Amino acid sequence: MSGVNEIRSAFLDYFKREGHEIVPSSSLVPRNDPTLMFTNAGMVQFKNVFTGLEHRDPPRAVTSQKCVRAGGKHNDLDNVGYTARHHTFFEMLGNFSFGDYFKDRAIELAWNLVTKEFGLPADRLLATVYSEDDEAFDLWKKIAGLPEDRIIRIPTSDNFWQMGDTGPCGPCSEIFFDHGEGIPGGPPGSPDEDGDRFIEIWNLVFMQFDQQPGGERLALPKPSIDTGMGLERIAAVLQGVHDNYEIDLFGALIAASEEVTGVAAEGASHVSHKVIADHLRASSFLLADGVMPSNEGRGYVLRRIMRRAMRHAHLLGAREPVLCRLVPALVREMGRAYPELGRAEDLITETLELEEDRFRRTLDRGNSLLEEEERAVTENTRSRIENLQPDEVDYYASRAFEVNKDNKNIVFLSTIPEKKEALLKLPEKQANTVMEAALSGEIAFKLYDTYGFPLDLTQDALRARGITVEIQNFEQAMERQRAEARKGWKGSGEAAVETVWFAVKDRVGATDFLGYETDTAEGVVT
Ligand code: ATP
Ligand code: MG
Ligand code: MG
Ligand code: MG
Repeated sequence: MSGVNEIRSAFLDYFKREGHEIVPSSSLVPRNDPTLMFTNAGMVQFKNVFTGLEHRDPPRAVTSQKCVRAGGKHNDLDNVGYTARHHTFFEMLGNFSFGDYFKDRAIELAWNLVTKEFGLPADRLLATVYSEDDEAFDLWKKIAGLPEDRIIRIPTSDNFWQMGDTGPCGPCSEIFFDHGEGIPGGPPGSPDEDGDRFIEIWNLVFMQFDQQPGGERLALPKPSIDTGMGLERIAAVLQGVHDNYEIDLFGALIAASEEVTGVAAEGASHVSHKVIADHLRASSFLLADGVMPSNEGRGYVLRRIMRRAMRHAHLLGAREPVLCRLVPALVREMGRAYPELGRAEDLITETLELEEDRFRRTLDRGNSLLEEEERAVTENTRSRIENLQPDEVDYYASRAFEVNKDNKNIVFLSTIPEKKEALLKLPEKQANTVMEAALSGEIAFKLYDTYGFPLDLTQDALRARGITVEIQNFEQAMERQRAEARKGWKGSGEAAVETVWFAVKDRVGATDFLGYETDTAEGVVT
């Protein structure tokens, strides 16, 4: 069995043998790119090469890039602990051709690596292509020998990559591994593709067009290649496990977390251990790259990640700082590949401890409030359900399927015995039926403002109970506070900085700037 460290080296060495220069990972904080919160793909450090602003010789590179996807367009924060394949921090392995080889060679290199070097059985692999990309379809047939029913045409933007509204873009092909029957989920392009049976391991982007402002796409004179493969995902495949969190690296981190908390990773506790292990990595790597916890921008994303992990440690019963005690295990596992971790070990440990101490002062009281409100919401929903008229039951029942599809949190009507009778008479799909239970936005705001609970932390805490948060009220409360803060800061020393912050946020939109969809103004003040 190859460990994560050997798999990373094997990837880099393979492409080095194929004429690629091994380039170190760039920082998680992108240089010269204020629009991007964190480096979220291998190509980020090469943007200027792809647009032609910079030149690289040799025109081929290979990297293992540190990535964080916890905000902005790519936000996998809410997936952690719930899917087998997502982390907030992960390593993206990638090979790049800057106007050198193109589609055929890229497919050949990728296919040879997974089937020959790594020895994966070809009959467990599938490829997707952009629906219009006949060339790629034919190449997968010719080079890989894949049968037509395992080359899937995808018409959506999932298989068409764009750097931005204009500039380099092109179709992509993704390689999927079938983890086998028994795991829920359908092949890519099917209605239940979001399951975890068929897991995307590698994305090959064929940059062949230059998107013009008017909508026209010109052919790039020198098409390029950009690929990305999740190291943890390929490690899971090679180590014969389905879940990324079962690979050697996570095994070690979760074992450390079990030891420090004294709680075995089983049932609901398992989720907490996964979250802790994942967020430990993200927090430590962000700290090592110079991000410090704060109330805005990048620092606030870091703080949110840390606090989510701390709440999970608290759930496991920890009453002393836990995360800081896991740093040695992380450095042991990843310090050789990323020496910056070891260099920053003291800073990481101290910052985690300080944050954990600080948050613990309000965490207990916040939790009590949350639990109290949670009970009230559940009671309230229950009585609303009990008082439903038969036609209302039908109405909610008929909406059930839709709501489920959107992954909205739901309360099961069928938990109420009298209603269950009525529901059992409905068609099967509709029997597990819903009525939304929501926490008032005012309470969520109080949790945020008084107890330091970021909105996403509250949402994460309520998720298991099927309770959502009334976002609109939350935002209104936030807006009120923002307006007051604006007034209050006039003329103060900080005003200039804050004005810039507001101006930037108003201009680019809080979503891009804070990298988060709903808690737009979070971090302005606490
Ligand atoms: P998914 O559809 O599974 O969310 P993606 O299409 O968003 O993945 P890409 O943007 O194509 O992912 O990134 C390239 C590769 O990086 C993916 O094929 C996958 O192996 C890996 N990857 C992407 N997101 C994550 C993540 N959150 N955690 C671990 N690996 C990831
Ligand atoms: Mg994704
Ligand atoms: Mg995908
Ligand atoms: Mg992809």
